[in-house]
Amino acid sequence: MYPWLIPDWQALSQSAVAGRLGHAWLLLGEAGLGKEQLAERLARLHLCHHPQQGEPCGHCHACQLADKGNHPDLCIIPGDSKTIGVDAVRELGSRLQRSAQLGHGKVVIIPDAERMTEAAANALLKTLEEPAGDSLLLLIASQISRLLPTIRSRCHKHVCHIPPEPVTLNWLAEQGHPATQAQVRICQGAPLRVLDYLAQQQDKARQDLLGGFVQLSQEPTRITALCSLLGQETQTRLHWLQLLLCDALKTQAGCGHQQLAMPDLAGLSHALAEGHSSERLLDAEQRLVSLKEACQPGQLSNPTIHLMNWLSQWL
Ligand SMILES: [Zn+2]
Repeated sequence: MYPWLIPDWQALSQSAVAGRLGHAWLLLGEAGLGKEQLAERLARLHLCHHPQQGEPCGHCHACQLADKGNHPDLCIIPGDSKTIGVDAVRELGSRLQRSAQLGHGKVVIIPDAERMTEAAANALLKTLEEPAGDSLLLLIASQISRLLPTIRSRCHKHVCHIPPEPVTLNWLAEQGHPATQAQVRICQGAPLRVLDYLAQQQDKARQDLLGGFVQLSQEPTRITALCSLLGQETQTRLHWLQLLLCDALKTQAGCGHQQLAMPDLAGLSHALAEGHSSERLLDAEQRLVSLKEACQPGQLSNPTIHLMNWLSQWL
């Protein structure tokens, strides 16, 4: 288990031993913490025939089937599709109503539960309202605001927190992927996101994007190129821009390098801080928050128009 999840696991496992697990849990926390690992272990514990001190035994028939990924009473919704539709949710609802094939409970795990369409979320409510006796539903989400309030209120909640920076830095080094403090902060301290960031060699993309943005005032013709850069991995890249604007504001307020989110690009935040008033930086940052919302996956409007508007207003 990831070291930063051990206290979370202990808390959840104690709830299970005390019989306080209930029928539905919502595991919350920043993306990139590995919350799926917690859900899977909880599922194994629920299904295990001989659990020992809050841990699955690892040897029984249920544990062996779960190890091989083919336990008939464990259903994990695939994480690769952009949305989860009503049919998938109805299917898992009826699975939970049937008797357990191995006679030791049934578990459904829904990773990135925000992907549920409105119809799917409403169908899930029905399952939550009439839970079968031995069923356990585990929802995993990083943006609680995108879940229906009625779903949130019917689940027990457990929030996983970002580990302290040294824990993340040590773990990454142990995995053979040493990272800088800047890289950890850019990924909001979520260790698996840093791993992904390093694997995709994102430093260069970030420098190009943010360098281009700082140059934009002098070279307005870059606007189209910049807009198309923001069109890919939009949320991540808007987040980088937001960090840069915040770093420029921090610089104006007299903060040192160590307090910046991206100390490696201090030159760029200094250039912004010198070239623009704090009102202007703050205004751009606030509009960026709305822009991120407007560009969320699942929004109907065309993100390019929003991105272009934001960039034009900055000019
Ligand atoms: Zn077992």
